[in-house]
Amino acid sequence: GHGRLPGWSTSARWRGLPKTTSARSSASLLAPARSFRPFSPMPMIDSHSDIPTTLILGGTTEASRLAQAMAEAGWPALLSYAGRVATPRAQPVPVRVGGFGGAEGLATFLRDKRIGQVIDATHPFAAQISRNAVRACTMADVPLCAFERAAWTAGPQDDWTHVPDITGAVAALDGPGKRVFLAIGRQHLASFSHLAQHRFLVRLVDAPAPEFPLPDAQIVVARGPFRLEDDLDLMRAHGTELLVTKNAGGTGAEAKILAARTLGIPVVMIDRP
Ligand code: NAP
Repeated sequence: GHGRLPGWSTSARWRGLPKTTSARSSASLLAPARSFRPFSPMPMIDSHSDIPTTLILGGTTEASRLAQAMAEAGWPALLSYAGRVATPRAQPVPVRVGGFGGAEGLATFLRDKRIGQVIDATHPFAAQISRNAVRACTMADVPLCAFERAAWTAGPQDDWTHVPDITGAVAALDGPGKRVFLAIGRQHLASFSHLAQHRFLVRLVDAPAPEFPLPDAQIVVARGPFRLEDDLDLMRAHGTELLVTKNAGGTGAEAKILAARTLGIPVVMIDRP
């Protein structure tokens, strides 16, 4: 079975987990093998250390909540980050950081670490890792559960222009200068750097690097979840006339959508890949 992962703390609930397999039924399952190898000691299954580790592919609020819930329930979990954020949140379960090396690398990881199941709780726009997870789990024969947040939907008061991707969002901004809240994270900001007519507001988890592609943008360094009152204040202070966002769904980043609705601000909504 699996040993505990380093850093795993033993909780009262861990010690108290109910057994789902009785010793008697395990013994009967092992009996045929015994008759072929009478002198080789059979591995004894410790009551709890046989619970296989769940790999959570993270980088989202939901993945962190899931890690918290698993820690509280006493189930061994390993949380994986891509490594995009300089200072990830402290977690109650062990964490590993960085890519696996494609689907093949992930499959090897699953086998080497004897992962029992994978939960893909990545962001809806992180399409590559989700594809890799499907392939890797197939290759390694490990069950996969993909957690997907419901997308945001426009209400009657909303003025949304749907675009299929970042290129579509760039095209939608090809007009007169506006005060634009560019709420798309850090990765694709360079695609907007030629649109000098706009006064961008950008929110980042980490302080911008010196080579930041929108040098004239107003930058806010903050980590979600965000509150409606704060996003109303932020957008009023910036004088936001247009919001550009990915359709991430969920509640952690929804405040800006609600703020745009409240303030009557149109939205360029980047649909999911
Ligand atoms: P992506 O395009 O789907 O993945 C690119 C590569 O990054 C993957 O092939 C994989 O590298 C590595 N990777 C991604 N997620 C990983 C994880 N949880 N653990 C280990 N490696 C991972 O992903 P992305 O859009 O760059 O997003 C990266 C991370 O940021 C994800 O964890 C996602 O949940 C989070 N995030 C993304 C967005 C967004 O808008 N895209 C927003 C918020 C948070 P290898 O092929 O080498 O394994």
